[in-house]
Amino acid sequence: MTKIKSINPFSGKLLKEFETLSDRELEAKISLSHEAYSSWKSSTFEQRGHLMRKAAKVLRDKKDYFATIISQEMGKVITESRAEIEKCAWVCDYYAENASEFLQPESLTLPDGAKAKIVHQPIGAVLAVMPWNFPFWQVFRFAAPTLMAGNTGLLKHASNVPQCALAIEEVFTLAGFPDGIFQTLLIGSEATNEIISDPRIQAVTLTGSEKAGAAVASTAGQHIKKSLLELGGSDPFIILDDADLEKASETAAKARMINFGQSCIAAKRFIVMDKVYDEFLEKFSEHIKSLKFGNPMEEDSDYGSMARPDLAEELYEQIQDSVKAGAKIHLGGNKPEKGSAFFEPTILVDIPEGCPAYEEELFGPVASVFRVNSIEEALQLANDSEFGLGASLWSSDIEKAEKLANQIETGAVFINAMVASHPHLPFGGIKKSGYGRELSRNGILEFVNSKTVYLG
Ligand code: NAP
Repeated sequence: MTKIKSINPFSGKLLKEFETLSDRELEAKISLSHEAYSSWKSSTFEQRGHLMRKAAKVLRDKKDYFATIISQEMGKVITESRAEIEKCAWVCDYYAENASEFLQPESLTLPDGAKAKIVHQPIGAVLAVMPWNFPFWQVFRFAAPTLMAGNTGLLKHASNVPQCALAIEEVFTLAGFPDGIFQTLLIGSEATNEIISDPRIQAVTLTGSEKAGAAVASTAGQHIKKSLLELGGSDPFIILDDADLEKASETAAKARMINFGQSCIAAKRFIVMDKVYDEFLEKFSEHIKSLKFGNPMEEDSDYGSMARPDLAEELYEQIQDSVKAGAKIHLGGNKPEKGSAFFEPTILVDIPEGCPAYEEELFGPVASVFRVNSIEEALQLANDSEFGLGASLWSSDIEKAEKLANQIETGAVFINAMVASHPHLPFGGIKKSGYGRELSRNGILEFVNSKTVYLG
């Protein structure tokens, strides 16, 4: 049996080790999920909402406990971990409040006078394959709508956050959810194919890399099962020459450095018009330099380490390859120590087409800054990406910005603000950033059977 290790990336210390589930244990959990569904699907929205509100309360009551697990296991600073727990409580309350309205039957009268209804019914057990970067939030934004819709959930979390995975199950247990409604599976990624192909599993959602998404979606496709993919991004942050540079540069630093750069919707490519380029770069660099390095458990730390040493190594390789291709280092850029997850915040400029900083997602504290001479060039560069998750656009002319927003190929555009997920707003990507939507009414409709009932 392989072990799943929980390692503190800041100290490098092994915190705990867990055995992966045996075949028999895994079978028992899938079977329980399936059985639990048979009664959960008939529960009322009121009953489900009551439990979901209790889950929100558990999160708030034990916020420090859960936040500490996050920070110790994946290196996020404690202030951000607490904010993550608060956001999870918010999404639980949001769906407890709104699920019933979102899933009310819809009545229609057809042109010939016939009547019909669309009823939204649960589908069964849904598997979630989740990443480590927002180890609670990614799971709750799946679990809250999915369970409120009357489905059951099974979680295969990233292998570096087993304590978070177990703590999330604990939230639902403490809230009083019946056995089997939400379960964590401590398994490696190789076990997911078998689970997806199991007839008791109805659908799968994955948040993670392109490679993992393609693997999971192809298995789901072979078995004609629905999949939802939330994948990577290389979000543009576009600054036009009439932007409020003070606010834009401060927000740009936040948008790049949130979660120490390890966020799918972190701004990654800063596309700046020539007229304001030098001033922006100076202000932006100052904001990045002012961030405080420290132990993630300390209140005033802005960043600590990345989540794993191999991620730091991979990011450094992307910088090196970009520099070899002609990119210049404006800030940072020094090699991380071998085997360590520490990384120096870095800014790259003069980036040529075709190198990693132009083409790939840089999943860490590295900003790529581009100079453009016109709005057309800014749009062309913003859209010249395989990804299409989010975009941030800065201009003092809102009407112009809204028109430009329509031309940006992403799942979301935020004008004069950084891209963020919000329970009330649909979240998801186009192109290689994936398909499907989470959050809002769109999110809860992903894993239901919207059934037509025709009244003849
Ligand atoms: P990852 O390596 O793809 O892992 C994500 C999850 O997929 C983990 O649970 C992982 O399990 C599993 N997995 C990996 N390979 C698999 C395979 N072949 N079959 C089945 N499952 C597999 O991604 P990550 O490094 O954790 O996360 C970073 C990526 O996620 C970035 O690209 C980021 O942009 C993206 N992301 C996207 C969003 C979004 O909402 N669009 C949000 C956050 C992150 P193991 O850990 O056991 O390998």
